[in-house]
Amino acid sequence: MEEEKSKDKAKLDLKSITEQQICFDKNWILQSNKQESIRNFICLICKQVANNPMEINCTQHENIDEPLIVGENCLNQFLNQNPNSCPVEPHENCLYSQNRMAKRYINELDVICPRQFQQEQQQLQMSTQQGHEEGETPGIVTCNFKGEVKHVNDHLEHSCCLQMVRCWFKSFGCNHKCLKFAIDDHLTSNMKLHFDLVIKSFDALQQDIRQYKEEINKLNLENETFKMKSKKDEKISHLKQQLDQYQKDNIKLISAQACYILFLFSFHSKI
Ligand SMILES: [Zn+2]
Ligand SMILES: [Zn+2]
Ligand SMILES: [Zn+2]
Ligand SMILES: [Zn+2]
Repeated sequence: MEEEKSKDKAKLDLKSITEQQICFDKNWILQSNKQESIRNFICLICKQVANNPMEINCTQHENIDEPLIVGENCLNQFLNQNPNSCPVEPHENCLYSQNRMAKRYINELDVICPRQFQQEQQQLQMSTQQGHEEGETPGIVTCNFKGEVKHVNDHLEHSCCLQMVRCWFKSFGCNHKCLKFAIDDHLTSNMKLHFDLVIKSFDALQQDIRQYKEEINKLNLENETFKMKSKKDEKISHLKQQLDQYQKDNIKLISAQACYILFLFSFHSKI
């Protein structure tokens, strides 16, 4: 039972990382929507806009005159930490179901690129800290995406100019990371650096090959000596066998001779 629970939790963690199942930042959604349009879709637990909205249907809250919406991930986390409870008020046997209408509604809300939103927030923070006037900082790239929530993941993965990418020469040791559109610049202006990195790793590879070759030669030599030794051992044991045989033959011969002498001796004494 315990094990199953922890497995479920691991699944949940993986899901939240890979599919970003956490509820949507209310301020991000409010950039292109009015407060009233999201009022009924606020997650009871995290107070942001519910992602995969679930509706709480317990009979205990029949008198509450507002939709009881929670994001699926928030609800799962809550029930993991508080089994046999309910996010509205503590009681057993919480009842909930997926609210498809709300899900479709939220998925069709218009939003700007979340990376652009994050960038604007950071710029705002910096300009208030430094007392600068608000406005676009020159040289900063902006993503002009505006579309429905359901298209955001596709945008982030395939067409966002604010996507960070790693240098193509990462496996050779270049740790540079930059915006997708700037990678070409980095590659062309750092050709010498990348060339040197490739040569360095090529040299290291050759050094490794040399070492392996030496190792193989040593092993081959050891193998040869071992083979020669075992051949010698074979010869010695063969000689030993031959010697044994000779000794046995010799004993037989001596005893035959002794018999013969005895026979002659007894024959002579009879005469
Ligand atoms: Zn939530
Ligand atoms: Zn309840
Ligand atoms: Zn974007
Ligand atoms: Zn690089």
